[in-house]
Amino acid sequence: MVSSMALVYTMKCNASCRICCFDCTPNRQEKMTISQAKKYVDETLAHNSIRAVGFSGGEALLYLDEICNIAAYTRSKGISRISVSTNGFWATDEVKTREVLSKLHSSGINVLDLTADEYHQEFIPIDNIKNILAVSEDFRVGIHITTMVTEGSMRLVDILPNLGANTIGKSLIEHKVLPIGAAKQNNIPVIKNNLIIDETATCNTLDTFAIFPDGDVYPCCSQYCRNELLKLGNMDIDGIEMIKKKYNSNMVIRILRKHGFKWFLDRCPELGINYVTLCDMCNALINDKDKFNKAFGSHIEEEMKNIYEAYLKQQAEQQNSNTLTEGVV
Ligand code: SF4
Ligand code: SF4
Repeated sequence: MVSSMALVYTMKCNASCRICCFDCTPNRQEKMTISQAKKYVDETLAHNSIRAVGFSGGEALLYLDEICNIAAYTRSKGISRISVSTNGFWATDEVKTREVLSKLHSSGINVLDLTADEYHQEFIPIDNIKNILAVSEDFRVGIHITTMVTEGSMRLVDILPNLGANTIGKSLIEHKVLPIGAAKQNNIPVIKNNLIIDETATCNTLDTFAIFPDGDVYPCCSQYCRNELLKLGNMDIDGIEMIKKKYNSNMVIRILRKHGFKWFLDRCPELGINYVTLCDMCNALINDKDKFNKAFGSHIEEEMKNIYEAYLKQQAEQQNSNTLTEGVV
């Protein structure tokens, strides 16, 4: 079941981080319009049990008033968790920070996803993040701080002392940079490990509709997802009904949700386990459709047969119990 919606509002960013998975820069021009975004909100909310909506990019807050307008609209539709990812470029002093946080808060945005690491801070002074942390204490807004890490880079523990005392009570995490986008082009040394691929190794974010500025929809916001095997369709061309059907019938999504990565590894040990994260393994699995079909085509047919047989069995049991109930009445 799809429970969250991510609007990747723009690919434009004031920064051009060496690790950016989408390779965003100030020169990128792709962005949604307010009416496009509201249409996507209406359609997605009407056909799914959406509980959370997030705005990201690029730097979505380059379009602060547009984001606030769409967030207020989303809030009016009953969505109580609305987040925005931002690099904090706007928090140059206390007055400016208060002004922006007040606008975000009034529009219904109640979660800010921030980044603090050596790559983002090449463009954004760390004092901006400190300003947000300090002023956010006066607003009911949840703060998540992510530190992107690579081989030899500063870690969260190195960044924390620079953020001051206002990190208490905030959610703080490290994310490993993936070898994709700008990180790949810049040969950034990523951290690879042998992953533990057991029954719990699965993707937990496949309950999302991530909509990009061109209207394309994928089941997660990762750049890795942007391939033929996971593309669910285009909001402007296919419409939400078709996208939902494709989501429900996509065998990669179904297998990942039901069995996790172990199912794939058991059938193709060459896939290996040395990756940065599960997303990196996911990419190795699905980035080449022909290779994927060659390795898993027959197994997927078998899995589809199992699903269909289980469905027929369930239908027969249902019919039997209906017949018994009718007999009793
Ligand atoms: S701030 Fe974020 S979106 Fe912008 S270039 Fe850096 S990583 Fe990419
Ligand atoms: S594991 Fe795959 S589907 Fe899940 S978030 Fe990562 S790239 Fe997306």
